[in-house]
Amino acid sequence: MSSPLEKPWSLAELVRFEGPLSGVIPIAVCRRLIELQGGSDEGEIVVAGELSTRAVEATPGEPAFVGTASTFVRLTCERCLKKFDFALEASFAVVFIAAIGERQDGPDFDFWELGCGTVRPADVVEEYLVLALPLAVKHADDECAATAAESPIAETDGRPTQSPFAGLRAELDKQRHSD
Ligand SMILES: [Zn+2]
Repeated sequence: MSSPLEKPWSLAELVRFEGPLSGVIPIAVCRRLIELQGGSDEGEIVVAGELSTRAVEATPGEPAFVGTASTFVRLTCERCLKKFDFALEASFAVVFIAAIGERQDGPDFDFWELGCGTVRPADVVEEYLVLALPLAVKHADDECAATAAESPIAETDGRPTQSPFAGLRAELDKQRHSD
């Protein structure tokens, strides 16, 4: 049996439920996060959520899933190209409706069109985590191998960096002195 976060819910089931919807989702059930990790299904997402028709004030009577999710995904730093555990967090507020039609997302919630289908809360969580990813995934400056002073590919940060021609110049000097 899958947990309430992983099972598919119909609109009728969502409307009937009022209460906390929290727990842990294994990354193994999140296809896009597995892809982001280069095929690894390791890790889990911690979710603190509530499913209620009162959770979003602007849409009374309609079931809303509101909460936060956090996880670590194993990603590659774009600066030093090393793998590291990137802390990924997202908050979400989704109102489930049969058809969006002319309705617009609110300032602090999004509609999620269900039709006569179902939704897994885990899919909502995964969607918002993927949206929360920065365009460029990098270590913090003080944790990145590429910004450490001894690194030959250090970015300029005010300190003198190794010139790519330094070795060449030394080589030329040596030749000149041996002449
Ligand atoms: Zn790095």
